[in-house]
Amino acid sequence: DIEIPESHPRYQSLLTRHRIEAGVEKGITSKQGLIAQGRGEAFDYLLGEQTIPSADEAARVAAASLLLADHPVISVNGNVAALCPKEIIELADAVDADIEVNLFNRTEERIQAIVEHLREHGADEVKGLTADGRIPGIDHERAKVDADGIESADVVVVPLEDGDRAEALGAMGKTEIVVDLNPMSRSAQVATIPIVDNIMRAVPNITAHARDLKDASRDELEAIVDAFDADEALAAAERAIRSGDE
Ligand code: ATP
Ligand code: MG
Repeated sequence: DIEIPESHPRYQSLLTRHRIEAGVEKGITSKQGLIAQGRGEAFDYLLGEQTIPSADEAARVAAASLLLADHPVISVNGNVAALCPKEIIELADAVDADIEVNLFNRTEERIQAIVEHLREHGADEVKGLTADGRIPGIDHERAKVDADGIESADVVVVPLEDGDRAEALGAMGKTEIVVDLNPMSRSAQVATIPIVDNIMRAVPNITAHARDLKDASRDELEAIVDAFDADEALAAAERAIRSGDE
């Protein structure tokens, strides 16, 4: 990473921008990804660049849901790969999930570059290249997933997912954990568990909760999941944005 003094008041934000820029240079992040980054940053600014209590609760619910899952899969796109590759691998280890590269603007070249990038950061198996599964109800290129990955997952983590695909994945009956800084984004709105937080804070936070819940019984985990109200979590995020406090 570049030299940004940690004392800089917007250190995290500058670091994030730099990582996305480096991701574009390395061929893992698309130019569209730069635009998504800008949108995310605006919402993060309004949230005070912090994990609000409702997002922390949602992260705990996500951890419980991942621990209960039979086949959890974490979907990785070009922004996620550039921003927090190590943290994604740590989460996958903590909840025994598969990692699958899944791109909105899919090219074999970019998938390959992301798979390699994740391997450089310590991942052993990364899915996404087989593309022998489909998400029903969306056009061909955007529908491609691995049959033994996202297609057969019961719980999916989809950070920064496109609204259409998030909706189609939900229609497949999957428990969908969406990380998105915009509570009004369709992806957040259709999620089973929306986490309105920056991916760089949310992923390590889910991992920390998963470690904390490691010895919890299935009953305890199910109680955590059942008590969650997605609409209330989105409303709390919107209130935090509008009022400047939570
Ligand atoms: P839709 O309403 O259909 O979901 P959208 O406007 O959300 O569409 P995109 O351009 O794909 O569509 O949006 C990318 C989303 O990713 C934005 O909602 C943005 O807030 C979010 N985002 C960008 N960077 C981050 C980040 N670092 N952490 C979390 N969310 C992010
Ligand atoms: Mg969206």
